[in-house]
Amino acid sequence: MEQDQKKCPFYAETIKIEAIKCVFCGEFLESGLREARKSESQVIVNAPRKRKWSPGTACLLSFIILGAGQMYKSNILAGLF
Ligand SMILES: [Zn+2]
Repeated sequence: MEQDQKKCPFYAETIKIEAIKCVFCGEFLESGLREARKSESQVIVNAPRKRKWSPGTACLLSFIILGAGQMYKSNILAGLF
């Protein structure tokens, strides 16, 4: 094997050392990249179900509701006088 070449772990074909994706089988050769791709798709699948309430949204919403409540109260008071 040449020094600028490596073997595909899946098909044992000789490919360039810089290659991150095998030209023969299309697999990602860097395990980090494979993991990243896997976890990326998992995040996309799980995201809508898992993240119903983010702390930021809850905080913002409670602030808005509190603010709206105070505005509502002051409107009632303004209406009374
Ligand atoms: Zn391959």
